[in-house]
Amino acid sequence: MQCIVPWMFTMELKYLVIFAVIDVVFAGKHDIYQGFSVHDVQLRNTADQKILFGMEYQFELDLWEHGMPGQREARVMVSEENRAAFLDALDAEGIEHYVHLTNVPEALEKFDEEQRIWSAGRNNRMIFENFQRYSEINSYIERIAERYPNLVSVVTAGKSFENRDIKYLKISTTNFNDPSKPIYFMNAMIHAREWVTTPVTLYSIYRLVENLRHEDADLRDDVDWIIMPLVNPDGYEYTHTNERLWRKTRSYYPEVNATCYGVDGNRNFDILFNTLGVSANPCAFTYPGHVAFSEPETQYIRDILHEYKDRIQIYMDIHSHGNYVLFGYGDASLTPNAAQLHQVGAAMGAAIDAKKLAKARYYLVGNSASVLYATSGSAQDYGQFVGVPFSYTLELPGYEYSFQVPARYQDQINEETWHGIAASARLAKLYYASRYVPPSPGPSPAAPAPTIAL
Ligand SMILES: [Zn+2]
Repeated sequence: MQCIVPWMFTMELKYLVIFAVIDVVFAGKHDIYQGFSVHDVQLRNTADQKILFGMEYQFELDLWEHGMPGQREARVMVSEENRAAFLDALDAEGIEHYVHLTNVPEALEKFDEEQRIWSAGRNNRMIFENFQRYSEINSYIERIAERYPNLVSVVTAGKSFENRDIKYLKISTTNFNDPSKPIYFMNAMIHAREWVTTPVTLYSIYRLVENLRHEDADLRDDVDWIIMPLVNPDGYEYTHTNERLWRKTRSYYPEVNATCYGVDGNRNFDILFNTLGVSANPCAFTYPGHVAFSEPETQYIRDILHEYKDRIQIYMDIHSHGNYVLFGYGDASLTPNAAQLHQVGAAMGAAIDAKKLAKARYYLVGNSASVLYATSGSAQDYGQFVGVPFSYTLELPGYEYSFQVPARYQDQINEETWHGIAASARLAKLYYASRYVPPSPGPSPAAPAPTIAL
């Protein structure tokens, strides 16, 4: 007996090693996308766009880009099972399409390889020059708050569904006590696969705290900032470990659905909830959740918006990709200040365009339903709804890479976007002057009652 146990152990180990090798050879990290392909679809008019959107759920499409009739092609990922029927359906409508990627796992592997080279290339990169993991990002946030206690405070909003801390920074030269200053609230990574977004928030922190430049002194002195770099850490980590193209949260409510995980955080807010641009299928990318604010991650944004709604002058929910500055409402109805919303958004887009790469698109600015597509339950709309005068969705560039923009572009995206953030902050601040009512000096002392002679 004595020698059998070690022998069995050795055998088991041998098999384990063999299986592990097989695993490495045959089970690539991105095999879940085996057979998927990506296609560009030419939209001649809004009718074409409607037809394409109508196919989204029928063929389980992942719309990487929604396109703009006559101007921008749509980009769509489709599975092997659905591909032939989908392309036939496009052909039947006379809609032209081209192959963008025939092999999605290979493209993702190429991205990983470039990432490995980039990460190994220099060891003194700043945190916003690469796609750092959750723990690194949180450590940076903590470190900044420790180093600059008179300027920065860190707040833990609460836990994610999988029990990760969700933190944000408050940056203020007056400890958030001066109501004459507007607040600029920005967050990133509601959608997990949009990796270029979080570095932009980290770079903004850097520019406001560690590397304030003379020309930006007004931004730190005259504006208070709330910055939440990682709204959906569960989804973000999952894109690093399991599915690079995961979009949703990672919540699991077996009493609602025992098969699929996650909710589209940007459809989960209590505004027009579950009406437009959503799927009732819990497995779909645009599943809004079984109730509004089912997700702790969206609750934290809601709570910040409510807590500071009298002072938040601008709310920027940062996504990628497509180069858009969008505002509400998602059902195409406009707010009374739509002209101002457009003006501030246009100032932002133009400031970014002035610094953009030659190959990058110009920013498009407008109502999200008119420019892009109808939505419900978005963060942008909820911000507007609770009274933030300038509430936006910002879609950063994807260039030709969509969600897999290589990290070597991150400096460029950070820098150009910062210019847009600065422009929007300054203009929105001007409007705050008409919104903020200084407290009156108080009632003047009562005049002595006249003496009445009887
Ligand atoms: Zn997004």
